Amino acid sequence: MSLQISRQKIAFTVLVLFGVSYLFISLPRCTSDKDKPNPQPTASQPAQPPVQQVAPPAFNADSAYHFVKKQVDFGPRVPNTEAHRKCAAWIAGTFKKHGLTVIEQKFQAPHFKGGTFDCVNIIAQYNPENPRRILLAAHWDSRFQADQDTKDKTKPILGADDGGSGVGVLLEIARLLKEQPVDIGVDLICFDAEDQGNDADDGQDHSKTWCLGAQHWSKNLHRPGYMPAFGILLDMVGGANPKFQKEGISMQAAPGIVQKVWSVAASLGYSNVFVEEMGAPVTDDHYFIITNARIPIIDVISRPGGTRSGFVPHWHTHDDDMDAIDKNTLRIVGEVCLGAIYRTHNGTL
Ligand SMILES: [Zn+2]
Repeated sequence: MSLQISRQKIAFTVLVLFGVSYLFISLPRCTSDKDKPNPQPTASQPAQPPVQQVAPPAFNADSAYHFVKKQVDFGPRVPNTEAHRKCAAWIAGTFKKHGLTVIEQKFQAPHFKGGTFDCVNIIAQYNPENPRRILLAAHWDSRFQADQDTKDKTKPILGADDGGSGVGVLLEIARLLKEQPVDIGVDLICFDAEDQGNDADDGQDHSKTWCLGAQHWSKNLHRPGYMPAFGILLDMVGGANPKFQKEGISMQAAPGIVQKVWSVAASLGYSNVFVEEMGAPVTDDHYFIITNARIPIIDVISRPGGTRSGFVPHWHTHDDDMDAIDKNTLRIVGEVCLGAIYRTHNGTL
């Protein structure tokens, strides 16, 4: 993702698109809710059986770490490279191995430096025909240059945290959904070419040079009219000492979803990580999904502070390798995502 663009611009855009009515987004509720009277059965509408409550399985941080390392072992996942092609095939194959239905949405996108990228969004569908769905997403590419480093600034980065960590969590969730099924649909989408944008701090708006995969998908949904109940975007969710603030665009577009996800985190004892602080807006995949597809999606992105950008110290540097990955952070984020999935199934989110 890039440094934030103008707060005023984003606030205006999101408010115009969503209007005040989007300030409270309610999720479909399940008939097992105690505070909701059971509807009387009719000849045409039989009573629905109570939902079988399902406890979330334990998130295996070792497995998630392994999934991050597998990506990093391919080398930098920059479009038009062999590592990029091989890693895409591996991610798609791993989702398929866990029983998900995978769409590889191929597209071409221009790079701001010239030329064209061959890209692929990897869309893994759990229970593809279930109309009640939620979306979890991350980007799987890694940045083509280490803008923020002091050395080898033009060489690509490994992106263990920035890219790899979110995909690692999604792959572990795919594995667990097979072990502990739920009666909702879950889409796990890995967006390409999020991190190939123009980082120039020249007063110009370069936001459209970023998030190329999310821009393409949000204008070419894999199913016409696709509208999950909510979405969660994961970005840089593997670094040590994480701090997830309530990111600015998420709070403008989907504050109710932020509240629900933060309440899951609090109930699991993670209020020190998912903090009650407003964060600055970040140009990330969710921005284009909100503006183009009007899907309510929030960004979970670590901004521990202590750096000029507010991002983790290894952001867009060669230090973003496996040494930057803390299994405990993967576990915390994984447990919160599983909490959101299984509570949605249970009707308790
Ligand atoms: Zn990045």
